[in-house]
Amino acid sequence: MADLDVIVIGAGGGGAVIAKELGEKGLKVLILEAGPWYGNKKWPNPNSQAGGKSSSTIDDLDVILYKQLLNKFEMNMNDLVSGRFRWGPADRSRPQWFRNANQKGVIWQCSGVGGTTQTYTANCPRAYPAAVDNVWPLSYQELIPYYEKVEATLPVNFAATTAKEDLFYYGAKKAGWHLIPTLDVISPGYRPQPNAILPPNENITNLNLTEEQLSWMEGCTLSGHCINGCPHGPSVDKIAKRSTNVSYVPLALKTGNVCMRPNAFVIKIITENTVSKGLHAVGVIIRDTWTGEQEEIRAGIVVMASGSIESPRLWLNSGLPENPWVGRGLVNHYMDWVSGIFDEKDLISILGTPDINPFVGNTCGARLDYPGLGTLQSVGMSPGLTASFYAVSESGYSFLHTPSINDPWDIKGRLYGYELKDSMDSYRRTLNVLVSTDDEVDQRNGVTLDPLTRDENGFVPVVNYQPTKPSIRKRSELVKMAADLLRKAGAKKVIWTNWPAGMMIHIESTMRMGFVVDHDCESFQVKKLYIADNSVHYNSLGGVNPTLTTQALATRTAEKLYEKYFN
Ligand SMILES: Cc1cc2nc3c(=O)[nH]c(=O)nc-3n(C[C@H](O)[C@H](O)[C@H](O)COP(=O)(O)OP(=O)(O)OC[C@H]3O[C@@H](n4cnc5c(N)ncnc54)[C@H](O)[C@@H]3O)c2cc1C
Ligand code: SF4
Repeated sequence: MADLDVIVIGAGGGGAVIAKELGEKGLKVLILEAGPWYGNKKWPNPNSQAGGKSSSTIDDLDVILYKQLLNKFEMNMNDLVSGRFRWGPADRSRPQWFRNANQKGVIWQCSGVGGTTQTYTANCPRAYPAAVDNVWPLSYQELIPYYEKVEATLPVNFAATTAKEDLFYYGAKKAGWHLIPTLDVISPGYRPQPNAILPPNENITNLNLTEEQLSWMEGCTLSGHCINGCPHGPSVDKIAKRSTNVSYVPLALKTGNVCMRPNAFVIKIITENTVSKGLHAVGVIIRDTWTGEQEEIRAGIVVMASGSIESPRLWLNSGLPENPWVGRGLVNHYMDWVSGIFDEKDLISILGTPDINPFVGNTCGARLDYPGLGTLQSVGMSPGLTASFYAVSESGYSFLHTPSINDPWDIKGRLYGYELKDSMDSYRRTLNVLVSTDDEVDQRNGVTLDPLTRDENGFVPVVNYQPTKPSIRKRSELVKMAADLLRKAGAKKVIWTNWPAGMMIHIESTMRMGFVVDHDCESFQVKKLYIADNSVHYNSLGGVNPTLTTQALATRTAEKLYEKYFN
């Protein structure tokens, strides 16, 4: 690409957003993405053939190909090793990229155009104002116009209600919580999830249309495959779940100024040190993930948007200046999983039907927010993922734990054998609640380099997270609130899985604003190097889902970067 202004590393939650914003300002932008591109004619067999080199037009997007690749078979998509969405190169004859995480849990990220938003459930709440004001180096008020812009672009709507949301609201109300249908949350309460999912297709109740016909029309069909990527919509840019590969990427291509190169892993940031400019970024070295060839690419500005593990890893592997906060301070919402199993007769009296059918509707359609503690969200996960979540526990097997009279749970720990079969037999009558804690930043947590282990992209990251005492206390309160909500809704059995601390689904704060980057997200130590992913968050936002805030910040960063270097 001639006269390149900006290189963006990573096409995920933040990278696609800043590329679109800069492209609209007339800058020439190249996005380098390590993983594959699904649904682009230039890569018809993205997991078995190298395909083309780059694409810069929306005409290359192909919805038929997209739907062939992103289907509704959950393990086909979400098996972390062999599924389409995995953390590894497009080429399936090669293994995943290794991370050294010496603790129980899972690091759940996806490579590819869209990054981890390909599999995310699209929940788009704003941070709690109290988690930002007088804490971050910028105020909540300053974020609002950028939140509004992202909410209008994706777009963000309040989730549609199906049986699982109805039951969640019923339990929340009975437990004494109030409805707070607002975006700026300052007091506890429950509400429909603000999410990046198109409102339901208005023909959804038309019995003359088949499910297949509906899936080719615009609008959500409540089919519950959000986490599999969502294959519903008439064209790639109108797919119902608005992950960045179907929202910001097509908009970026439409500007005519953005070029995307998948299968390109950036292994080094190149810098120069001059008297007039000081230490500043001038380009990158990439490694083609199919051929292994390396290439140097130069531009005026480099933006890291490779996620909260790979951004610090790239900094460290590039030998950029030492900073005690690079990679440090990781938060992950110290998540947990509480499930309630209901009797048919109770469901009939509350919902008018004997089943909740967790696989119907937006995957996470309802939430309860509690500034200062965190959040609870209803989750209707598909059966395979539900069974696997029952199996990851800090407490070991469930037979080790007999509840005492005061315990809010009936079963604690990892389900197995008959108990697992019994719970899965009740799958259609199960409401799951995901706990996300307002966990504390601790400099001991985060990403370092393993000095002994390299892969083809450099020394591999070591990822570590141990919750602090206040984080443990907060999660314990949230677990009790979740159990109470389920009991009040009528659950006959409550299962507390007690997830280990290493469940990395929301990973933030490893390149914190105020420590590694300034409040415009430019690195303090390397000028012309910006960061536009979850890593720049100052804290865990109060426990709310991180992507909308990353996207708001990426929108703001584009504006600040343009004003400083191009205006
Ligand atoms: C199952 C699941 C559900 C989730 N649901 C939600 C939700 O509902 N709401 C929410 O807010 N968040 C959710 N999240 C978290 C959400 O996915 C992340 O917050 C978001 O994707 C982070 O954006 P990012 O830009 O930091 O990183 P990513 O989206 O992970 O993007 C990073 C990109 O950079 C690429 N990359 C990395 N290193 C390099 C390199 N060196 N060179 C080139 N490319 C590179 C990667 O391949 C990737 O595409 C969920 C996550 C999971 C796993
Ligand atoms: S419920 Fe999820 S998968 Fe189904 S159409 Fe709506 S967004 Fe797509």
